[in-house]
Amino acid sequence: MSKAQETVLEIDLSALTHNFNYLKSKLQPQTKFLAVVKAFAYGSDAVEIAKHLQKLKVDYFAVAYVKEGVALRDAGITTPILVLHPQSINFKTLIDYCLEPSLYSKHVLDEFIKITQELSQKNYPVHIKFNTGLNRLGFEENEIDTIVSKLKNSTSIKVKSLFSHLAASEDLNEIDFTNIQIEKFKTIAKIFAKISGYNPWLHLCNTSGIINYPKAHFDMVRAGIGLYGFGNSVEEDKNLKPIASLKSVISQIHSIEKDETVGYNRAYASKGKERTATIPIGHADGINRIYGNGNGYVVINGTKAPIIGNVCMDMIMVNISNVNCKEGDEVIIFNSKYKASNLSEKAKTISYEIITAVSQRVKRIFLP
Ligand SMILES: *Cc1c(COP(=O)(O)O)cnc(C)c1O
Repeated sequence: MSKAQETVLEIDLSALTHNFNYLKSKLQPQTKFLAVVKAFAYGSDAVEIAKHLQKLKVDYFAVAYVKEGVALRDAGITTPILVLHPQSINFKTLIDYCLEPSLYSKHVLDEFIKITQELSQKNYPVHIKFNTGLNRLGFEENEIDTIVSKLKNSTSIKVKSLFSHLAASEDLNEIDFTNIQIEKFKTIAKIFAKISGYNPWLHLCNTSGIINYPKAHFDMVRAGIGLYGFGNSVEEDKNLKPIASLKSVISQIHSIEKDETVGYNRAYASKGKERTATIPIGHADGINRIYGNGNGYVVINGTKAPIIGNVCMDMIMVNISNVNCKEGDEVIIFNSKYKASNLSEKAKTISYEIITAVSQRVKRIFLP
């Protein structure tokens, strides 16, 4: 590992391999693996992550929006890509780039059939999304008849899979609710097969579903956060390795007297003679203002240094009165030892939000 001389997000591809193999070890050998690489692969780098996973022979990718799928195709990714939440305005582009839509309402189904007919497509692969309790996207069970009759009238599309999404797979207080979702999904699959006369693939589980509900793996699973090193529980975090380290450097050190203030709005006042360090990372880089005023910390030479005063757009100031350090020393915001999940608890958010927030201004570096 190199020593940071500017703000960088270091991405450890061997940790990604480890997480992929760990999650795969939870599956039956025939179960397919879809890697969710939306939102720049959870704030890392979708292209490099997808290239690496493609080498590891992942079966599928998913992104949220068409634009994200286009970026992967432009980078040479040839593995099938499911677009979880396409908007009909982008359907032509989706088809041009061989992306596969999630169709989640009559409106989008009609729109997609229309455009595939206009473009003379045959059996274009689509994925039908059902709502089983999250109440976010998806058809209802009582719409299966309508879906199947639309499908029977169209040869331009072909259903490759049926899927749904769990609302609380990480929450062991919600086992009953999750089991109801699993049963609903099975019922939907059965009715669909009966009316349509064929059996598309089924998939339901995200990372915590993979870990907590082996009986619900069906034909494929969709893993996101686990690939990036977080298991949504203390136990599972031990088996996974965070792939991303956010690092920076001390730009300048100040020695201040009692009652001097630090930063905008003079939000921090020194309690005595103190030393502060200025770090080149701010809220425009993903360090939310919530971490200011003692709520967040960085680690310098193994010692925690609290963020003092308000987080600026491009900088933070930290208290280094108790830290042995000098200008140019490396600063850790999070890594595999000082985890983003620790920071997130303090800020009442989740690891997902912290890691996806690292903005595109921060340089990405890849370790093999
Ligand atoms: C984001 C997403 C996932 C991945 O969830 P993780 O908890 O990150 O594993 C899976 N399925 C759908 C529909 C999603 O939107």
